[in-house]
Amino acid sequence: MKENYIQIIIYEMKNQKRLLFLLFIIAFFTFSAFAQSPQSSNYLNNRAPLITKPFIELPLGSISPEGWLKDQLIRQKNGMTGHLDSVYSKVMGKRNGWLGGDGDVWERGPYWIDGLLPLAYILKDKDLIAKVKPWVEWALNSQQPDGYFGPSVDRENEPGLQRNNARDWWPKMVVLKYLQQYYTATGDDRVIRLMVNYFKYQLKELPKFPLDHWTHWGADRGGDNLAVVYWLYNLTGEQFLLDLGELLHQQTVNWTDAFLTGKLRTQLSFHCVNVAQGMKEPGIYYQQKKEKKYIDAVKSGLADLKEFQGFPDGLYGGDEMLHGNNPTQGSEFCSAVEMMFSMESILPVTGEVAFADQLERVAFNALPTQATDNYDSRQYFQQSNQVLITKNPRNFNTHYEDALAFGPLTGYPCCTSNMHQGWPKFTQNLWYASSDQGIAALVYAPSKVNAKVGKGTEVEITETTGYPFDESIRFGIKIAGKTTFAFHLRIPAWCKNPALSVNGKKWGNPEGNSIAVISREWSDGDFVELVLPMQVTISRWYENSAAVERGPLVYALKIGEEWKKVSSQDKYNEFYYEVRPTTPWNFGLIAASVKNPEKDFEVVKRVVPKDSYPWNPENTPVEIKTKGVIIPFWTLYNGSAGPLPYSEQYQLKTDPPQEITLIPYGCTTLRITEFPVVQVKFK
Ligand SMILES: [Zn+2]
Repeated sequence: MKENYIQIIIYEMKNQKRLLFLLFIIAFFTFSAFAQSPQSSNYLNNRAPLITKPFIELPLGSISPEGWLKDQLIRQKNGMTGHLDSVYSKVMGKRNGWLGGDGDVWERGPYWIDGLLPLAYILKDKDLIAKVKPWVEWALNSQQPDGYFGPSVDRENEPGLQRNNARDWWPKMVVLKYLQQYYTATGDDRVIRLMVNYFKYQLKELPKFPLDHWTHWGADRGGDNLAVVYWLYNLTGEQFLLDLGELLHQQTVNWTDAFLTGKLRTQLSFHCVNVAQGMKEPGIYYQQKKEKKYIDAVKSGLADLKEFQGFPDGLYGGDEMLHGNNPTQGSEFCSAVEMMFSMESILPVTGEVAFADQLERVAFNALPTQATDNYDSRQYFQQSNQVLITKNPRNFNTHYEDALAFGPLTGYPCCTSNMHQGWPKFTQNLWYASSDQGIAALVYAPSKVNAKVGKGTEVEITETTGYPFDESIRFGIKIAGKTTFAFHLRIPAWCKNPALSVNGKKWGNPEGNSIAVISREWSDGDFVELVLPMQVTISRWYENSAAVERGPLVYALKIGEEWKKVSSQDKYNEFYYEVRPTTPWNFGLIAASVKNPEKDFEVVKRVVPKDSYPWNPENTPVEIKTKGVIIPFWTLYNGSAGPLPYSEQYQLKTDPPQEITLIPYGCTTLRITEFPVVQVKFK
């Protein structure tokens, strides 16, 4: 095209009269092309015909954790995330097929790197980056002339474990995710070449060997593949990628219909992790198809999950198939991190506050409690009402005697491999560029962002807060000169009376469930304060039970915990932890109090040592005091809290109420979250 332009110009130079007109035409087309180009903003937005996203992910490394979040990531580095190659050497060691070895060729190695890689680049940690490098290099160098990459010879990953077909589409989807992140951190062009060739290969091969050809997981989780295809399209603009997008969507489980037609209410044959991953697919495909029903589908799916399978922590009964909302059903660790990643994937596409609220609910409640504080072990399943952690048969639809026990590999190893992505990707999604050349804080935690705003001006914003325990968040702005840009801030739906100020002066009248936009000229030293008042509220769950919420946190009964490290003879775990209660757990809440939560639930802010790790009962920065009564007949059944007494259908004669303490769910290990509510008559 350029050569044609030049020839025309030379020709037209001979004709001065038409030159001005021609220059105008060239200028017009150049301007139009520039205006449509995703490069016209500081960061790569979607390229037409995909929708323009309201928010854009920042390159890996732009966002740094501070405060408790930094502590959390360092705990991961010092714990299993940084050491899985020795803790789980049989699979993550040198023999892994994704390192060219004769070991596992399936999802586990890629899962680990999908969490370790962002952790390494977020912490800018040389040792971790060096640990990730061989996985990146082997994948990049494994491409074959036809475009295929990855292991191609079947391997038996461990004696006694399933043989997985090396050519399965599914594990490659995870590798694509970590290569994409690696590219945003390094700009290594080899990633683009590999993806272009591999996606051409997919377009050619998928009609013969569809996503579910080798295992069904590829068809369940095709949304992850699709998201990377669109990301590459934005970089290269090649039409075949949109064709591939359509094909991948067609071959992926029809999550849109499943969510819109209420399948999550009744079909318990869905796998819990597939549901969490499938939740993103309609939102990803929406970028190409642009029909509202795809976003409605995600909302409908989330609403049905909550109502029919849901727990207060944002997750649902799925142990491993969907299993209803009894608070003693299990919730898999993979469901937590995959639900988070789904919300992180569709939040910038839609800018919907509801998806950010859901992301925080899982991150601040379910996520902190499923691994130990030092990250040396984790649970396969967690329970909403969890009163005893021992090796014991329980009422899970997939039986593992040690599913609740904390261990390196208790239950099933997928979570040991997959859990690492939770906190690093959460950190990476605290901030986005906005499509109006501004910046957005859509999810909150202590952090620092370095990004370009306006016409490419560098800004650094430090977010200082004890959120989600604290109600106020301060943003300090560091910028070279005066620059005009928009600062977008999410106001969660739970927040009734938010307050926003700029340099100490009240700004606007922000409302809950919206995104406030402060457009102004900013100078170095400017600061924004956001106050999100948190009220105690009651939500209703299984058997009409009550959960106590305050802002983004769910509060659960604080139970005395006795931890015991048990040496194990089994081939995976050298040890595991049991946890037993040392104080009663069978409390009900009092009906009159539940009607008056602001009055009868007292919020106590605790003084804790500075920089102490907040996610345990000792260091929790907030407690709630209220009164409860012991329900004598609510006892242990099959290793779990017995059948939940139905709320408020009887007048129970009890001993006088006693004070009980509730702490954030994420700080508990043993807990009652869904309380029976009783109308008491004192004996
Ligand atoms: Zn898992």
